[in-house]
Amino acid sequence: MSSLSSILAAYKDRVTARNSSRSPGDPTAGARAIVYWMQRAQRALDNPALDLAIEMGNHLGLPVVAYFGIVPFPGANLRHYDFMLRGLADAARQLEARNVAFVLRQHPHNNLAAFCDEVGAALLVGDENPLREPERWRQALAKKLRIPFFTVDADVIVPRRLLAKAQYAARIIRPRLKAHFDDYLVPCSNPRAKIAWDTPPPSLTADPALLDDWKSLDRSVRPVNSFTPGTTAALAQLKDFVAHRLAHYPERQGDPAQDGSSRLSPYLHFGQLSPITVALAVRKSKAPEECKEKYLDELITWRELAANFVTYCPVYDSIECAEPWAHRTLGAHSADPRPILYTRQELEEARTHDELWNAAQLQMLHAGWMHNYMRMYWAKKILEWSPSPQAAYRAAMEMNDRYQLDGRDPSGYAGVAWAVAGKFDRPWFERPIFGTIRYMSGPAAAKKFNAESYIREMKALAGE
Ligand SMILES: Cc1cc2nc3c(=O)[nH]c(=O)nc-3n(C[C@H](O)[C@H](O)[C@H](O)COP(=O)(O)OP(=O)(O)OC[C@H]3O[C@@H](n4cnc5c(N)ncnc54)[C@H](O)[C@@H]3O)c2cc1C
Repeated sequence: MSSLSSILAAYKDRVTARNSSRSPGDPTAGARAIVYWMQRAQRALDNPALDLAIEMGNHLGLPVVAYFGIVPFPGANLRHYDFMLRGLADAARQLEARNVAFVLRQHPHNNLAAFCDEVGAALLVGDENPLREPERWRQALAKKLRIPFFTVDADVIVPRRLLAKAQYAARIIRPRLKAHFDDYLVPCSNPRAKIAWDTPPPSLTADPALLDDWKSLDRSVRPVNSFTPGTTAALAQLKDFVAHRLAHYPERQGDPAQDGSSRLSPYLHFGQLSPITVALAVRKSKAPEECKEKYLDELITWRELAANFVTYCPVYDSIECAEPWAHRTLGAHSADPRPILYTRQELEEARTHDELWNAAQLQMLHAGWMHNYMRMYWAKKILEWSPSPQAAYRAAMEMNDRYQLDGRDPSGYAGVAWAVAGKFDRPWFERPIFGTIRYMSGPAAAKKFNAESYIREMKALAGE
């Protein structure tokens, strides 16, 4: 029979022991359960953190409970919580199929340490999120707990700690990530819990109606129906993408008027879908190799470069994260005349002279999502039309986090840093306002695809 240490060893660098108060082979005597603290990886499928908890439970002959606490998250509003709760309802059904109980608690009844006492936890397994707030939660909890606490880097393909330090460019991180694919780009075990709970602990039902009593929740951003939340819908979307759009991915990547990208970012952001599930499905498909390669480069190289960025750069959501060359060039051009200036309200309400930009803003407001090409254009124009690079950075970041379903994500922080502050890019030709930060022109953008059709579609979406 395997020992707890050999179970842990099989997860290699995905697992971190968060406290050393007890050894992994010494779970609390008389314990009655294993608790999995579901936080970022909001799914039952291909979730290495859940798999570890189940394997530990099966080894110790204990049932497993997945615990989720609804907490305020900086920048999140009704749109995000609605999507999250509907997704959790789907996760709860799939956990049941794996014999795992699901417990949902809401402030002020979401004390995880108290829950571990309540159910007599032998140990706690959590997932990881590189953003500062959830990392702070984990560190604070580790100090409080007297049971072993392990966390699993479940939402990346290559565990972040294997890269050990900040990576400065896609071309640098790419081969380093690839070197670990044999170990980590492999199917998850998805075991079933052998022991079920006789009487599961009390739980709320995952339903947006729960939010009605949350007085301080920002309700000004309404839910959208552009995406059906949950793993089931995410898998259907993945299947459709792989079958019909992957083979055209490279040529449609620069074309917001065509439904060419996977639109999986909200699911990946909420952990309703694992990047491992996506990458393996893409690898298995019969699409041309160059299409698969291009897609996997976005999903793995760029997404994991962003995860690395927020892990090692404490100022990831501020213009301070820029490289020295970008600070110098933006500083040198900070007093340049800005012939066009818009207030935050004008931007927010999509009231600029630029119909293409307004269309992108409408897509964000009404679909909670934007095509990658338009995200780049959108952020660069904010730099052009703001009184300072600092103001532009704040406006882009705050609107992105507020309206995009996939906002408050490492890829968002890296995306704004790339567009406004040249992060992971190189100096280009000198021009006003931008200095040597890469510029994007509206007329050039509009020539690349059917901009009129995109504008029409977004106006229709907004009911204009
Ligand atoms: C200014 C700006 C803001 C952005 N904000 C966000 C954000 O808030 N959340 C977010 O998830 N992405 C963000 N991105 C990255 C990218 O635009 C989106 O991930 C992508 O458009 C999502 O659509 P998709 O799922 O159809 O992508 P696909 O093209 O189908 O790509 C598949 C997946 O790869 C990842 N990916 C693709 N492009 C990038 C990239 N450039 N950087 C990092 N990961 C990438 C995403 O997880 C995406 O879902 C931003 C980019 C910019 C320039």
